Amino acid sequence: MKKTIKEILALEEGAEVVATGWVRTKRDSKNVVFISVGDGTCFDALQVVVDKEGFADIETIEAMNTGASCQFEGVLQKSLGKNQSVELLAKSCRMFCNADDSYPLQKKHQTFEFLREKLHLRGRTNTFGAVMRVRSILAYAIHRFFQEKGFFYLNTPLVTTSDCEGAGEMFEVTTLNLANPPKTKDGGVDFSKDFFSKRAFLTVSGQLEGESYATAIRNIYTFGPTFRAEKSSTTRHLAEFWMVEPEMAFYDLNDNADLAEEFLKYIFKYVLDNDPRDMEFFDKFILEGVVDTIRHVIEKPFVRMTYTQAIKELEKNNKSFEYPVKWGSDIQTEHERYISETVCKAPVILTDYPKEIKSFYMKANDDGKTVRAMDVLVPRLGEIIGGSEREEDYGKLLAKIREMGLNESEYEWYLDLRKFGSVPHAGFGLGFERAILYLTGMQNIRDVIAYPRFWKSEKK
Ligand code: ATP
Ligand code: MN
Repeated sequence: MKKTIKEILALEEGAEVVATGWVRTKRDSKNVVFISVGDGTCFDALQVVVDKEGFADIETIEAMNTGASCQFEGVLQKSLGKNQSVELLAKSCRMFCNADDSYPLQKKHQTFEFLREKLHLRGRTNTFGAVMRVRSILAYAIHRFFQEKGFFYLNTPLVTTSDCEGAGEMFEVTTLNLANPPKTKDGGVDFSKDFFSKRAFLTVSGQLEGESYATAIRNIYTFGPTFRAEKSSTTRHLAEFWMVEPEMAFYDLNDNADLAEEFLKYIFKYVLDNDPRDMEFFDKFILEGVVDTIRHVIEKPFVRMTYTQAIKELEKNNKSFEYPVKWGSDIQTEHERYISETVCKAPVILTDYPKEIKSFYMKANDDGKTVRAMDVLVPRLGEIIGGSEREEDYGKLLAKIREMGLNESEYEWYLDLRKFGSVPHAGFGLGFERAILYLTGMQNIRDVIAYPRFWKSEKK
């Protein structure tokens, strides 16, 4: 197999190699040409040195532009430059395809906005190469963490026929002719003629199906795409994003919080340990100090606090918030950050939120006012994980479904889980792109996924 630039850079001087990649820069001096060749397998590029005198194919070297795909054969020698330990003294070269000067990624710095117009090429830049490598390594760390613990990777459906949680925020899936849909007697659209004989949507979460398998094979996790038709163009929301959702039978809220803490520490440490070069780049050029904030999360015990305690702390500082809070308020990013950064100076797991601001499936506390919800808050970002212990009592869950005016028949299967061998169980969700944002210090969620899908996005 051909060696990658990453593999070549790990070799000793004297090795004979064939290097392939794309020209990042070319520098011509009197007797030699220096060509920086990268292939995206690692942050660094290989410096290729062409000694003009006696090099057979100097015309090809002269023609080679930034972006050209190329191959060099030669011997590694000790590099005098301070950026690399070895460089390639070329004996021969080949150019697969040149890139003319309309290639958009010339040497000068491009803005992220400009690169969002060039999604198909931006992966060749330093920043997007680093983001995608971190993304891949983080995905691997997530699988490793759960697989080492004996969790099973569950794939829940992307198309669902129950409008469970995200009323109004779901994308509808249909094969009906939108220009002329079949009609029912009373003039509405006749969805019984649709592909599934009923309305269908893209999923907003795999949790409910996850619960059915947690109560079958005990500990599962999902890791896949989710869709939300949220009409908000923030730097933290996508219409298509990836979510990690573990669900565990016989776990209570404390077990859930313990797992979330161990999980975040593990996956962040894994990336720092296994991709130090890309993380060094983010620390230097994207967000100064980002590596330290990640270390802080890895090393510090997370503080545990109830929502009620947090509100007391927040109320003392109400005049400095854009949205002052009182008991019952939904807490927003500014409050989450204040709790984590200023009050606790550490990551915080907030628990026991008012039932009115949380979902129907969360387990009720005995106080009649709060539910066993938890959010993990980290400095700089705020919420990174949301989860809960689930209501396992059939009667209480049914009452809640009715109270909230949900369509009872849609939840029959979900209630069955409480009817037959119900157990305490809990789980949480991590937004994968939010975790990448946090790790890399990137500012916009559209820059941590290859092809971002967001509101009013019509471009590829
Ligand atoms: P937010 O208040 O930030 O919109 P949420 O309360 O809607 O989040 P959940 O429904 O709890 O979020 O989803 C679980 C996780 O999925 C969140 O903690 C977040 O990390 C991530 N997430 C939610 N919505 C989006 C989105 N539109 N784009 C990217 N990630 C998201
Ligand atoms: Mn949301």
